[in-house]
Amino acid sequence: MKPVGLYIHFPFCAAKCPYCDFYSIVSDEAAKSLYSDAVVKAFIGMKNKYKLSFDTIYFGGGTPSAAGTENIRKIAECVMSENGCQDVSEFTVECNPSFVEPGFFEVLAKCGVNRVSIGLQSAIDGERAALGRSGSASDVLCAVAEAQKAGITNISLDLMLGIPGQTLKSLEESVNFCGFSGATHISAYLLKIEKGTPFFEMRDKLLLPDEDECAEIYLSACEMLEEKGFHQYEISNFARQGAEGRHNLKYWNCDEYLGIGPSAHSFLNGSRFYFERCVSAFTDGAAPVPDGAGGDFSEYAMLRLRLSDGLRAKDVIDRFGFAVPKEIEKAAKRLCGLGLVESDSCKTRLTRRGFIVSNMVISELLADL
Ligand code: SF4
Repeated sequence: MKPVGLYIHFPFCAAKCPYCDFYSIVSDEAAKSLYSDAVVKAFIGMKNKYKLSFDTIYFGGGTPSAAGTENIRKIAECVMSENGCQDVSEFTVECNPSFVEPGFFEVLAKCGVNRVSIGLQSAIDGERAALGRSGSASDVLCAVAEAQKAGITNISLDLMLGIPGQTLKSLEESVNFCGFSGATHISAYLLKIEKGTPFFEMRDKLLLPDEDECAEIYLSACEMLEEKGFHQYEISNFARQGAEGRHNLKYWNCDEYLGIGPSAHSFLNGSRFYFERCVSAFTDGAAPVPDGAGGDFSEYAMLRLRLSDGLRAKDVIDRFGFAVPKEIEKAAKRLCGLGLVESDSCKTRLTRRGFIVSNMVISELLADL
């Protein structure tokens, strides 16, 4: 059995945040229990069908911690026992600090969880409230301390950039908080106003920074996080030495993974497929939807260019048996002149300024393939 990544989606939240377009719903205890049984069934079926084992596991959402400790335990124990002797190097569970039941982290640790990802968003409680997030920064510190006490010391915090009312000064406070919180990893995402969310309807009334201010906030966050000892390894991800997210690195390295749950995507044996965004269809046993072939050179390059390490010449030869196409080298030369890309015979990578407009830069690099 070849080890791949495993992602399990928990589509439940206590309330819907006004900016969020992830698939999640507010639900009752009975539905959560039914869901966890369906996850176990789907997981065992897919694992056996594709003859898989797992070396990284990620429980995301939604809010896994809002799914109930017992449901998480049931799924985690099944996954670990079905995984046989395969070592799991990283097992992450996402947590909302406002919805953590007593003893939650002890149960996780006993199930083999060795990393948690906690939603901070901002250390300024007013900014959290503007995002519709409950709880406070001190709840986050309590959750970190409880996780550490249970023996889970690999801790990631989510930080949000470009949120209503955020200034460079308030960003600095949030980054300082990250520095002393005990976190080993920070994911820092620019707020995107997605169609279909309440924030989209309210967008003209929100005190949102403009494009230039967002760019300044992003660049400042990168520098401030680096000063606190978190080096940047991906557009939005920063880690203390050795604490880079191994599961998420599989996505950016175009490695294989199985995703279970509504909206979860998989990439196995050169094919992509996903479960539709509907809890009841999933619990009724709906099959995943085919999503075409995956893993060709363009897709690999697009994903690798998100990493600070960029597209490496040796990796391309090892994986595809050919050199980085000349078209990319030509485009890279043009973009180097604009300060958006750095390139030499070993690798092509985006600069931080390039990361700000990554979609445009990556499409330019790959346009002539
Ligand atoms: S807690 Fe997370 S997943 Fe749930 S609604 Fe808020 S942002 Fe979305």
